[in-house]
Amino acid sequence: MAGKIKEIQASGFEKEVLGKSRAVVDFYSTECPPCEALASKYESLSMIYGDDISFVKIFRQGNRELAESLGVTSSPTLLFYENGKPVGDRLTGGIKRSAIMKNLDRLTGEERAAELKKDIKPVYTQTDVLIFGGGPAGLTAAIYLGQAHIDTILVDTALPGGYVSTTHQVSNYPGFIEAQPGFMLAHYMSEQAKSTGIKLRAAVEVSNINLEKKSVLVDGYKTITAKKMIIATGSSPRPLNLPGEKEYRGNGISYCATCDAKYFENREVIVIGGGNSAIEEALFISRFAKKITIIHQFAELQANKQAQEQAFADKKIEFMFEHEPREFIRHGTMDMEVIAENLKTGERKSVRTNGIFVFVGFIPNLAGFPDNLGKDRWGYLVTDDEMQTNIPGVYAVGDLRTKSYRQITTAVADGTIAAISISKELT
Ligand SMILES: Cc1cc2nc3c(=O)[nH]c(=O)nc-3n(C[C@H](O)[C@H](O)[C@H](O)COP(=O)(O)OP(=O)(O)OC[C@H]3O[C@@H](n4cnc5c(N)ncnc54)[C@H](O)[C@@H]3O)c2cc1C
Repeated sequence: MAGKIKEIQASGFEKEVLGKSRAVVDFYSTECPPCEALASKYESLSMIYGDDISFVKIFRQGNRELAESLGVTSSPTLLFYENGKPVGDRLTGGIKRSAIMKNLDRLTGEERAAELKKDIKPVYTQTDVLIFGGGPAGLTAAIYLGQAHIDTILVDTALPGGYVSTTHQVSNYPGFIEAQPGFMLAHYMSEQAKSTGIKLRAAVEVSNINLEKKSVLVDGYKTITAKKMIIATGSSPRPLNLPGEKEYRGNGISYCATCDAKYFENREVIVIGGGNSAIEEALFISRFAKKITIIHQFAELQANKQAQEQAFADKKIEFMFEHEPREFIRHGTMDMEVIAENLKTGERKSVRTNGIFVFVGFIPNLAGFPDNLGKDRWGYLVTDDEMQTNIPGVYAVGDLRTKSYRQITTAVADGTIAAISISKELT
């Protein structure tokens, strides 16, 4: 095992973890993309903290009983121990380097941590192309560039796959007769990209983005410089910015039906919005909830005809047209209230529900990028036909680009065009 890491079995847990003054344990699995994303961070951190803290790895499937007894149900899971007692955070999923360091620093104490961190040496890497974002757009660009033998690094602040990985089913992506679970389609895309030899760095932190010099700082110590950059960071759900929204986000208010609909089995739900994603997501929620009320600002839905017909035929779905929410209030654990205003009369009324789903559009993910990128009036990046932005050598692809239709196929098309254009320039 590389770094200062010891791979152990359940039988060694008592001695190597509980018996040490300080220990960190990584429960990992094979064929697990977030485990792969963690492996190099874990290894490099073991080189920094490894003399003070025992770094241990345990194969979860091979040590199921131990994992279950510790409540470890997903891979990877990082657990921290001090004198045989669990301490700090329990980290799972796409684990960031800074989150691990926060817990390691707590174990060593701030003073010792500062001393250890003096040994972190900056790393400088050069590449032909640096891609920000591993959704369909970024992964497609990576596939084309990798196949053209162009040195490419893709960085994603989360796990690769973008929105596709959280979409319940995708039925309109060509090549599959049956609807595909989104996470599988995302998995195929990222595995295909990796198979071309590109370097994929997932769950990283990016800062100091300089588009003119084409450089970026990754995880606080690795500077990557590229000849070309592709921005493929997608977009995020637009908040309504209403009282109560921030407070109850993730705790009564959700922006992802695939993630949260299952918690509303036999309960009542309000969906805000009337476009494609609102109606498609309401139809999905209807598999679980007993009643869905769609609050929509216009007199008609904006979703495609097929989705509208399905929604109108669904007996669980009711509509409040020409209404807008004004405030969200929480009562107890599973009881929410929406104050909705009738846009024709101005009258406000209270609607009680168990949960609220908001689907009112998206905003481009451009936090941390310099302001001098050319944008349209909604903040989406403007490009030429080759996907190049106003900054030479910087391309923008996918949902964060100004365009009429945001779909997987259009994101994939953008990625293709940018990659072929770059390949021609670099070879
Ligand atoms: C609920 C829902 C259902 C959908 N269903 C369908 C469907 O059935 N069919 C269809 O064709 N389309 C569907 N879409 C639309 C489709 O998912 C998007 O058009 C597509 O995912 C856009 O791809 P993208 O690569 O541009 O962005 P995304 O998929 O959003 O990927 C962006 C990636 O960039 C990463 N990132 C963000 N910020 C940074 C940063 N600063 N640095 C590095 N990385 C960063 C993110 O972690 C993410 O992995 C759906 C969308 C939603 C929200």
